[in-house]
Amino acid sequence: MNRSDLIGRYPLVQQLIDLEPICWFNPAVTSLTEALPHVGLTREDVADASARLRRFAPYLAEAFPETAGAGGLIESELVAIPRMQSALAQQFSQPIPGRLLLKKDSHLPISGSIKARGGIYEVLTHAEALALDAGLITHQDDYRILFNENCRALFSQRRIAVGSTGNLGMSIGIISAKLGFDVTVHMSADAREWKKAKLRAHGVNVVEYDQDYGVAVEEGRKAAESDPHCFFIDDENSSTLFLGYAVAGERVKAQFDQMGIRVDAKHPLFVYLPCGVGGGPGGVAFGLKLAFGDHVHCLFAEPTHSPCMVLGVHTGLHDAIAVQDLGIDNLTAADGLAVGRPSGFVGRAMERLIDGYLTLEDQQMIDLLGLLDRTEGIQLEPSALAGMPGPIRVCADRRYLERLALSPDTLANATHLVWATGGGMVPAEEMAKYLAQANA
Ligand SMILES: *Cc1c(COP(=O)(O)O)cnc(C)c1O
Repeated sequence: MNRSDLIGRYPLVQQLIDLEPICWFNPAVTSLTEALPHVGLTREDVADASARLRRFAPYLAEAFPETAGAGGLIESELVAIPRMQSALAQQFSQPIPGRLLLKKDSHLPISGSIKARGGIYEVLTHAEALALDAGLITHQDDYRILFNENCRALFSQRRIAVGSTGNLGMSIGIISAKLGFDVTVHMSADAREWKKAKLRAHGVNVVEYDQDYGVAVEEGRKAAESDPHCFFIDDENSSTLFLGYAVAGERVKAQFDQMGIRVDAKHPLFVYLPCGVGGGPGGVAFGLKLAFGDHVHCLFAEPTHSPCMVLGVHTGLHDAIAVQDLGIDNLTAADGLAVGRPSGFVGRAMERLIDGYLTLEDQQMIDLLGLLDRTEGIQLEPSALAGMPGPIRVCADRRYLERLALSPDTLANATHLVWATGGGMVPAEEMAKYLAQANA
């Protein structure tokens, strides 16, 4: 289909080309029961990932003492942000009934972003398979055995490669180097200097590109193809990464139980997830759907300059179209979301389970970054604010709320959960620059 046919058929595409902030609620969403067969992954797959992370917990607690308090689980805090909730309602002249929570994956241990879920999980899965295959461990062992010389010698002969805009490279680089792998991160032009410097300090090879994420991934893939001992972590297509993210669902459920927060027909949950290639938000949304069923409503959030997932899902073209094909430049301050072509795997697996998609301007992310700092004293990177206008967009959309058939009483019982995906490790001087760009 050529460009004008595409726009004729999907007027939303013209709005994306015009860099207009949009909000699209997909009329084709279905129940979890109907959608599950299309995902291609199951509840058992997520349980298996969860069990694998528990096997690694003793290793992680020792390798990264900051995880010891949580028994070696890589998990983040869930906090209420009532002052931000009032400030948002006031600024947008839009009441937000219910409560507003923040999931602080921004402050996950080891690498300070949501990638500490999927990225680290995939490296652990690979390491476990190699060590099992070599007869160096069994599932019943205490995985601190991986510190011993035989295991390290095995891993040191193996290479790992990945393409990244920054945070995935950080997660994979740090855990791979810790286990003893020879690891190379192919970094796109968006990647921040401090992330590259941090990786080099950990002994990671960093290859830099002047082009965007798609090129960094492609070059990483090529370099790995010619090397049989190299394992390429494919952010665009990996079900392993996806499952690592999905474990977040049962973890949030346990946190809700502890906080006494209910999710059911009378207590809906809305979750707002920043989206780049789609693996992180897709995996988390899958885990949340398994944990809360049809009472959780997930929305993806993207920069107006990188609206790849909404473009792919809305047109049904998925990874057959990139934002650049329409002249959209994929240049954004939200480096974690600077992706021009979505994961086809995630788009197809999850399209029936994601209620809606929104886009927002870079300056709005920066302004919200400042507002969160002033109201709650929490500092995030720009990407992590993408979901923050979500509650405003949902509460203002009468047609969507009518479709959900939620009464005012039920809406007053809603929980809005904004997923903060990164920022915990941003150096103070970088954070000061972001804050200086925020309008009061
Ligand atoms: C990677 C990333 C995302 C989105 O994850 P994808 O898997 O690329 O969709 C969101 N926020 C931050 C900070 C990230 O680094």
